Amino acid sequence: MNAEIVAVGTELLLGQIANTNAQFLSEQLAEIGVNVYYHTVVGDNPKRLERAIVQAQERADLIIFTGGLGPTKDDLTKETIAKHLGRKLISDEAALQTIISYFQKTGRVMTENNKKQALVVEGAKVLPNEHGMAPGMFLKIDTSHYMLLPGPPHEMQPMFRKYGRSAVLDQLEAKERIESRVLRYFGIGEAQLAEEIDDILETQSNPTVAPLAGDNEVTVRITARHQSEDEAVLMIDEMEKRVNERVGEHFYGYGDTSLMRELLKVLEGKNLTIAAAESLTGGLFQSEMTAVTGVSTMLIGGIVCYSNQSKLKLCNVKEDTINNHGVVSEQCAVELAENVRELLGTDIGISFTGVAGPDSLEGHPAGTIWIGISLKDKPTKAFLLNLAGSRNGNRKRTVQYGCYYLL
Ligand code: ATP
Ligand code: MG
Repeated sequence: MNAEIVAVGTELLLGQIANTNAQFLSEQLAEIGVNVYYHTVVGDNPKRLERAIVQAQERADLIIFTGGLGPTKDDLTKETIAKHLGRKLISDEAALQTIISYFQKTGRVMTENNKKQALVVEGAKVLPNEHGMAPGMFLKIDTSHYMLLPGPPHEMQPMFRKYGRSAVLDQLEAKERIESRVLRYFGIGEAQLAEEIDDILETQSNPTVAPLAGDNEVTVRITARHQSEDEAVLMIDEMEKRVNERVGEHFYGYGDTSLMRELLKVLEGKNLTIAAAESLTGGLFQSEMTAVTGVSTMLIGGIVCYSNQSKLKLCNVKEDTINNHGVVSEQCAVELAENVRELLGTDIGISFTGVAGPDSLEGHPAGTIWIGISLKDKPTKAFLLNLAGSRNGNRKRTVQYGCYYLL
């Protein structure tokens, strides 16, 4: 099956919003093995929308429309599609009830226009909208499939995940199972990773292996098709093993996770507490950690020691260290990590000290950063980074490296 995504909305053509719906849907469809060949954007204009429908019908088995399902005059997607397909619009009882109860709950007055939102194309399977009023639709006519989804991403995404995806899967001819798994890597670039698994990438077919550069990291998606789900999973296991034989030292987690989440899982599993002394990161490590729920048993706290004075007074760094080694030094990182751990009585102490940039410091270029890690009953270690990003890029990356080294 191949698909085309038709995003309807003049605001997209005016550049007022980006077509993130197409991006989301393409990613979702790729996951279930549907090839997306075209993205179309068309304004709120019935003639041009109709032309877009004709064009898409010629080249796609599945056309997914987003936007224009609302109550206002410019929302004309379903009207235009219904007219083009020679179908009536009929009121859907469940959708109407959702709209009525929404108005009752919020105490707002319902207008005739709002009733229009309960209209669906005759013969379509209705996709409930659990985050708004306009329902989605899925329709099969001969070999063509049509899906209509609302424009707002917070309505469209959960609707597709919960109802749209399975509606498409039900139509896939060969009832092959498509399983996919995302592996995440840190501390290796996309190009280097691709080179390490070059031969695998060249010969792949089923499962497929697709590396993708992300936010300071690389993901690899492995997708397998098989009649049996178990077999598909086994094929993925095997491929994962092959890939990780080459680049496993950079692997840190599966799917929708982050270095910080993985770190917290480990700390929780081992019942460990942590404290941080943060100079150039200014509390970013702790901020990112506290963004995850349930960290209070692990993160005891820390010190933002941006100036020399605070390193001396709050973190008990030796004057000699600052005068003779400087703050951009292994010695300073080690003392900060050890002292914050002792001050707060934790299992782990971590420190960040260095030059975020753009200016150099103590003769060290921007991006020279030391991370100290102190563990109970173990020699303290320090790691040197030479980063080349912007000030805030370097700070963010430093936090990621901190998690990575702790893992
Ligand atoms: P509503 O009931 O809110 O009017 P609708 O289905 O009629 O929803 P539109 O009116 O076309 O959808 O768009 C509503 C909002 O949804 C837009 O203002 C925009 O914020 C968002 N939106 C629409 N299309 C897209 C898109 N392709 N990508 C990202 N956001 C979009
Ligand atoms: Mg609208």
